[in-house]
Amino acid sequence: MLLVVDKLQSTGKSKRDGWRTELPRAGFGVGVLETMKDAKRKDVAWQGKCSGTVYIGGNEAEGHFSLINEACSMFAHTNPLHTDVFQSVARYEAEVVAMTAALLGGKEKASGGQICGNMTSGGTESILLAVKSSRDFMKAKRGITMPEMIIPESAHSAYDKAAQYFKIKLRRVPVNNEFLADVRAIKRCINRNTILIVGSAPGFPHGIIDPVEELGELAFGSGVCFHVDLCLGGFVLPFARKLGYPIPPFDFSVKGVTSISVDVHKYGLAPKGTSVVLYRNHDIRKHQFVAVTEWSGGLYVSPTIAGSRPGSLIAGAWAAMMSLGFEGYLENTKEIMEASKRIQKGIKEIPELHIVGRPDMTIVAFGSNVVDVFEVNDIMSSKGWHLNALQRPNSIHICVTLQHVPMVEDFLKDLRNSVETVKANPGPISGGLAPIYGAAGKMPDRVMVQELLVDFMDSSC
Ligand SMILES: *Cc1c(COP(=O)(O)O)cnc(C)c1O
Repeated sequence: MLLVVDKLQSTGKSKRDGWRTELPRAGFGVGVLETMKDAKRKDVAWQGKCSGTVYIGGNEAEGHFSLINEACSMFAHTNPLHTDVFQSVARYEAEVVAMTAALLGGKEKASGGQICGNMTSGGTESILLAVKSSRDFMKAKRGITMPEMIIPESAHSAYDKAAQYFKIKLRRVPVNNEFLADVRAIKRCINRNTILIVGSAPGFPHGIIDPVEELGELAFGSGVCFHVDLCLGGFVLPFARKLGYPIPPFDFSVKGVTSISVDVHKYGLAPKGTSVVLYRNHDIRKHQFVAVTEWSGGLYVSPTIAGSRPGSLIAGAWAAMMSLGFEGYLENTKEIMEASKRIQKGIKEIPELHIVGRPDMTIVAFGSNVVDVFEVNDIMSSKGWHLNALQRPNSIHICVTLQHVPMVEDFLKDLRNSVETVKANPGPISGGLAPIYGAAGKMPDRVMVQELLVDFMDSSC
């Protein structure tokens, strides 16, 4: 999420009048549900107008949505930490991991036939775990104690989080002029402390697939780990390829790939809070686990960051995958790929705008040399759209989901209109992200942003 001061302020404490700070003395009983329905009604209408965010199509009260809700509620009180009690969810987790691995080259001979992994709470946790496991694997294998990792600047912020949490030096390498990971520049950064390089398929900002094959070759040749971020692409690319779209290699069939993250809660159409982390073999994955043998609470083993985990979400992910099946995902992929193509074509027809790079999938980023694209975004927001603002270069993107399939023409019409409005009344360049980036487009100071967070995103009282 990009931070804009006034956006932060609108969620700040001044908006918290009437928020509860203590338990009610007498409980509301079932009456609480009415209160909650009321709160939900007052949330922003996201139907069809949010970039990414909600990936399931149609109406929230029916179809795939209600199927997932039912599956989750059936297993709402289970916890896979207690495998002996909840064998159902233990099996579901193993099957979600296996079915996901099979989509990503796990059944191909080139994969080595040992792909393994876990479900996690989301892409960020999958990435955190892959980075942590790579760090400890490289410590065991190469004796690296001052670890460094190299990421293209288009890689997700989760790697920054991992670097901060796990004391790893982060080297950030600019992308090339096609917005792809710059393999030669990454190669120049590799040294004897390098534990990991990273590629995305596709990257979040511009939806472009990094050159996974070349990065794999580099990683293999240098003896470092290589993580492919398939958080967005994992449940689209295998199907897009099957449908005949030109998709470059991206998975375990590529030599050198050691781990993969893939979000089931995005295009997998599973409930929020579900992702999968996969490893090429147990040798790497074993560094993900924590085992405590000396605790007075007994032997404690846990595979992921959380201890207790929500069995309901695992069951929900399993239900999503089993109910859709290969053909369901194929059909969905065709719809969103076609919607994305129509959106790309429509944007190309707006002379003031240009598309950033060549989108491989369903994320379309665009900018302008004529109008302030952040002002265009502001007008789009006033029309109910929630798009993503990007920087370097200044641009915005839409991550196309099933929600947008019936909305393509509305989107393009609103976009054409917004560009016209901005063109007719160009405001001061201080719109958009300028409040925090400063008029000169200077990067904000990280410590300053951190202070702002404490003020505005604090959930305490
Ligand atoms: C969404 C995303 C992530 C992070 O996933 P969360 O589920 O938000 O934690 C990481 N990488 C890419 C490419 C993503 O799109």
